[in-house]
Amino acid sequence: MALNSKVPQGPLKDKWTDYKNKINLVNPANKRHIDVIVVGTGLAGGSASATLAELGYNVKAFAYQDSPRRAHSIAAQGGINAAKNYQGDGDSTYRLFYDTVKGGDYRSREANVYRLAEVSANIIDQCVAQGVPFARDYGGLLDNRSFGGVLVSRTFYAKGQTGQQLLLGAYSAMNRQIARGKIEMFNRHEMLDVVIVDGKARGIIARNLVTGEIERHSAHAVVVASGGYGNVYFLSTNAMGSNVTAAWKIHKKGAYFANPCYTQIHPTCIPRSGDYQSKLTLMSESLRNDGRIWVPKNLEDVKLIREGKKKPTELSEDERDYYLERRYPAFGNLVPRDVASRAAKERCDAGYGVNATGEAVYLDFAASFVRYGTEQAKIKGLTNPSENEILELGREIVKAKYGNLFQMYEKIVDENPYETPMMIYPAVHYTMGGVWVDYNLMTTVPGLYCIGEANFSDHGANRLGASALMQGLADGYFVLPYTIGDYLADDIRTGKISTDTPEFDEAEKAVKDSIDFFINNKGKHSVDYYHKKLGKIMWDKCGMSRNEEGLKEAIQEISDLRKDFWTNVSVPGGANEYNEELAKAGRVADFLELGELFAKDALVREESAGGHFREEYQTPEGEAKRLKEFQFVSAWEYKGEPKDAVLHKEPLVYENIEVKERSYK
Ligand SMILES: Cc1cc2nc3c(=O)[nH]c(=O)nc-3n(C[C@H](O)[C@H](O)[C@H](O)COP(=O)(O)OP(=O)(O)OC[C@H]3O[C@@H](n4cnc5c(N)ncnc54)[C@H](O)[C@@H]3O)c2cc1C
Repeated sequence: MALNSKVPQGPLKDKWTDYKNKINLVNPANKRHIDVIVVGTGLAGGSASATLAELGYNVKAFAYQDSPRRAHSIAAQGGINAAKNYQGDGDSTYRLFYDTVKGGDYRSREANVYRLAEVSANIIDQCVAQGVPFARDYGGLLDNRSFGGVLVSRTFYAKGQTGQQLLLGAYSAMNRQIARGKIEMFNRHEMLDVVIVDGKARGIIARNLVTGEIERHSAHAVVVASGGYGNVYFLSTNAMGSNVTAAWKIHKKGAYFANPCYTQIHPTCIPRSGDYQSKLTLMSESLRNDGRIWVPKNLEDVKLIREGKKKPTELSEDERDYYLERRYPAFGNLVPRDVASRAAKERCDAGYGVNATGEAVYLDFAASFVRYGTEQAKIKGLTNPSENEILELGREIVKAKYGNLFQMYEKIVDENPYETPMMIYPAVHYTMGGVWVDYNLMTTVPGLYCIGEANFSDHGANRLGASALMQGLADGYFVLPYTIGDYLADDIRTGKISTDTPEFDEAEKAVKDSIDFFINNKGKHSVDYYHKKLGKIMWDKCGMSRNEEGLKEAIQEISDLRKDFWTNVSVPGGANEYNEELAKAGRVADFLELGELFAKDALVREESAGGHFREEYQTPEGEAKRLKEFQFVSAWEYKGEPKDAVLHKEPLVYENIEVKERSYK
């Protein structure tokens, strides 16, 4: 199948406006006769559901949590970007576009990114109108902070709870429609398959997670907004429930998957503490506005710190290596995430890691306490303030900005980050890869859309901070509601879609068979046993550093593990009850297939990009090859079962951007 991105002709900056002016519309009276299923009610699915219902479509929204408010989006801490230029520091639509494409290692679809930058400003207005309490400055205007890989302050935030506040905004917009009967909300329902009729997506099979009942739901179009699949690594910053099932099921029914192996490795997570951990915790990137990252300069100090014989606070400035500031003076601690992650790993691999596992660097706020404290002392008119007074005043400012993050760190690590530097290490955080979509956000299956983190999206090989919320809300509030009409305009006479068809029978049977297998298998290992093993293979062999030999081993090991899973997995409890282990079994089964495709994707990429580096190409020749490939490597797209993965290479169309080395010096 030839892929057609359907990017409209014309200058980049006019594409979206011209396109909207010309696409088909569905008139308000006809929208009443059209049903749309939205799987997922995080920021992407929640905003899409609310907007589609507001437009007049009948929406059926599904989420496996007990409320849309509990979607993983709630975890987002740091902020959301928009090219508003409120700080007057030179921001513009073009700059946001440029930063995003460059930050993604020139592997994004430019037309989508330009559109994203264009609508970013509307998102903020929309959310403010909903009452989202963005931080404001002294004069009452919306405040901004800076995130990695950019030289402006364009990030809007609500303390360290931006995702939660935005989600409450989308949720209230949804609730208005739920009350009107325009959204039918199916909480605690998990989509387990999509139903394709005559080549078009016409419904889903879902399991009621409370009663175990298997249900058929039909619609004229299906939108998947099921979030990212970082939990394929077992340990990640994602919510425990985040999974690939919806995206994987649609892939198996014909939706292509793009860039599966591009994963964002976030530099500022709380380091792993041992083998019995089930979750990693993010310390927001916003902390890099005020925290300085360092390791000791001398290995002797590293040894003493690890043995508990020296404290980091006892090291003088001369004894510290602020390696990001040293290597990237223009961006300092705010280089993009992939650059910061790779630099931390490089220092730790060289033996400078500061905790017992050797996998931690410091994130230190001492300089900010002094800087803010001195400023506050002046503002308050204190003459000759003591060192302690200055520190206290500075800490108060830092607390106001990041208080909840500091509290979270202290609870998890049991160390007071106001007294001693935080320890951080890179961890799996976001999946750039996902379901391939065209300019309309439609997958390769007609009538089947994919939005938010679940699609392969706008971020190329690496996502800049505060851009996932922007993309999810752009997709849901401002892009899909237009583009879906272009497709649905042909469905105004179709009438209700029946669920009493062989296609629904077949899909339902496959779901029931798989559930029966899990309940009756009575194997010897838990689902987590397999998930942990998969995660270890993924991190060791498909993590930040990859090589051909390791990837080939990973492919074989994942395949063996999958066979073992289907022989020996044990799922307690029954099918007709709330059974979390059963739900997990299905999700891990899908991770075990995705993992293999992931490793195959990584294997064929003769490149280092984003958070990953191929060891074979860490040479001057390899780097030269990599730069050359900027011109040729785009989304690498797959079809079919993992074992038959077919690779396509499609040249990127560089319209305005001059491709050059991505330099953060
Ligand atoms: C700790 C953390 C902090 C972050 N901070 C930021 C930040 O500051 N700024 C930023 O831009 N980004 C941030 N991100 C990234 C951002 O939060 C996510 O990329 C984004 O929220 C994803 O939104 P989504 O709507 O695509 O998916 P999600 O919020 O993950 O929602 C997925 C939805 O799909 C549903 N679902 C999934 N599978 C099924 C199924 N099979 N059946 C039915 N329903 C299903 C779920 O119930 C849920 O409603 C952060 C991520 C993490 C982990």
